[in-house]
Amino acid sequence: MSGDAVRDLLAGTGAVVREGVRLAELTTLRVGGPSVLAECASTDALVATVRTLDAAGVPVLLIAGGSNLLICDEGFDGVVVRVATTGVEIARPEDAVAATVADPGADSVSVETGAARVIAEAGADWDGVVAATVAAGFGGLECLSGIPGSAGATPVQNVGAYGVEVADQLRRVRLLDRASGEIRWAEPAELGFGYRTSVLKHSDAALVLAVEFALRADGLSAPLRYRELAGALDAAEGERRPAADVRAAVLRLRAGKGMVLDPADHDTWSAGSFFTNPVVPQARVEPVREAIVARLGEITIPTYPAPDGVKFSAGWLIERAGFGKGFPGEDAPARLSTKHTLALTNRGEARAADIVELARTVRDGVAERFGIVLEPEPVTVGLRL
Ligand SMILES: Cc1cc2nc3c(=O)[nH]c(=O)nc-3n(C[C@H](O)[C@H](O)[C@H](O)COP(=O)(O)OP(=O)(O)OC[C@H]3O[C@@H](n4cnc5c(N)ncnc54)[C@H](O)[C@@H]3O)c2cc1C
Repeated sequence: MSGDAVRDLLAGTGAVVREGVRLAELTTLRVGGPSVLAECASTDALVATVRTLDAAGVPVLLIAGGSNLLICDEGFDGVVVRVATTGVEIARPEDAVAATVADPGADSVSVETGAARVIAEAGADWDGVVAATVAAGFGGLECLSGIPGSAGATPVQNVGAYGVEVADQLRRVRLLDRASGEIRWAEPAELGFGYRTSVLKHSDAALVLAVEFALRADGLSAPLRYRELAGALDAAEGERRPAADVRAAVLRLRAGKGMVLDPADHDTWSAGSFFTNPVVPQARVEPVREAIVARLGEITIPTYPAPDGVKFSAGWLIERAGFGKGFPGEDAPARLSTKHTLALTNRGEARAADIVELARTVRDGVAERFGIVLEPEPVTVGLRL
């Protein structure tokens, strides 16, 4: 569809339409070809735009921070809708109680006494939301500091880091049901949260309009469950510390791994961890261990308990399969990060095809050596690994 046709179709929605936009400019991997873009800076514009495109049968790709997307070099054949809302509302427990009393039927107020809450529009910068809650003296989100992208995308893959997942603190999610056109708050139990996934991932069924979190009002962090983080704070696992201290420690640790965006550092031109940590079903754990021991000899294999089996470390497997930091070397347009084997990075001139080729090499090498097929974490558009 031409830019003019999209402009006509979306007249009156509030979307700003541009054509020939290189999606590489909107993704942190900095790859993705040209497309028509409809930018929506208000929730009303977002709803009207997506409803109009859906009714007209035009394919839609939602994009916010572009930090979990690998888009093909040909671009997207349809309309890319940019979620560019920014609103964030922080309420102390006493505000919530007062609001409940003033307006008992209000749809947006249903907070337990004692909990603080934050409501963020979908496009709000996630780390800005975390920073604002910590600055307001609220605990719960600090371990998720420094993760790029938007608030609205956090439930999509149940964003997680340092032992905390978004689902732990999420109170509810405001959704546009794209089949029925209905807008409503959904409870976490409806969203099928799992490790880096939810019913919203790899699905066009719903558009996230806003997210609401219930937080601790005493300024303390969530219990420190991640050994490296507890160690950095000189704390015992399970302890709570001031959320501001935990945020600072997380940002330091992440920066050391190239996991905080820095335009000057190609190690951060990535989609974060490119592969999820594989969860091997219990019945296959021994054969996998044997394959690893057969290759590497007796060795301590890092594993973690998981609901349906045992979680192995994708970064460890990649490294032990022979793909070290910086693989395949300096001249390659796409390389593993020099700070973290789990991040595939664009060294400046890479195309999506280069990222795909590197991903396949790593995935196939790990599968051949250890019998585990790594799954990509980012959402792929117009390409398959
Ligand atoms: C350096 C770096 C570090 C990272 N570290 C982590 C980490 O520690 N933990 C972690 O879990 N992730 C991490 N990520 C991945 C990424 O930041 C998160 O997944 C983030 O939540 C993506 O947000 P986004 O706004 O950029 O989403 P986008 O990349 O724009 O979109 C991702 C997917 O969500 C969909 N989507 C976006 N907005 C909406 C919406 N409003 N409604 C419905 N669907 C929507 C898109 O269509 C797409 O399918 C990292 C990425 C980078 C680059």
